[in-house]
Amino acid sequence: MNEPLILIIEDEEALRRFLIPTLSSHAYQVLSAATATEGLAMARSHNPDLVLLDLGLPDLDGMEVLRELRTWSRKPVVILSARNREKDKVRALDQGADDYLAKPFGAAELLARIRVALRHTLQADVPQPLVCSGTLRMDLEHREVRQGGVPVKLTVLEYRLLEALARRNGKVATHSQLLAEVWGPGGAGNTHYLRIYMAMLRRKIERDPTRPRHFITEPNIGYRLNLDAPED
Ligand code: CA
Repeated sequence: MNEPLILIIEDEEALRRFLIPTLSSHAYQVLSAATATEGLAMARSHNPDLVLLDLGLPDLDGMEVLRELRTWSRKPVVILSARNREKDKVRALDQGADDYLAKPFGAAELLARIRVALRHTLQADVPQPLVCSGTLRMDLEHREVRQGGVPVKLTVLEYRLLEALARRNGKVATHSQLLAEVWGPGGAGNTHYLRIYMAMLRRKIERDPTRPRHFITEPNIGYRLNLDAPED
């Protein structure tokens, strides 16, 4: 199989100098662009397997780049954004970005997010019937959930919430995405539903609900399922 091709669209030279060798030494092919215009042209000519996209670009807002990419490509886009810009991250995720990395980030985190995003494309056409997070096993075909081998009884809404996270296979889900998927149009804006149901889900599943290991909170953004949860 060919090495996946990653396109970096980032104007900060120091960051490109970190990203390019890190990715190359982990068997990725790498292309990089310092402007939105150059990045979009490269995306069209090379059709990369994944795009790392900075939101603050000199010529065009990264959100515009994302919108343009999404008119013709479903390939994963991982946002690189400054810390404390939660609104931007949420907007980008709601508009079809797959994940985000808050600057500064380390190589391990970068590589983990890329693996999750690429795994997700490979599986996009084939729904995964079985999703695991440590000792938690979710059989989405038979709607069966087991924690440490013991069946967990969930209400309809608890199950829908779990399923919405499991189907993302480790990718973050924003509050508004989860509200729409679990509660439908009536859920819009009711983030407290999510807090309540997440607490109930954690009480049934997490060993210590105050220190969740399976359902991870992304502050001000949403939740994700931890595919690397320890086996306990
Ligand atoms: Ca920038």
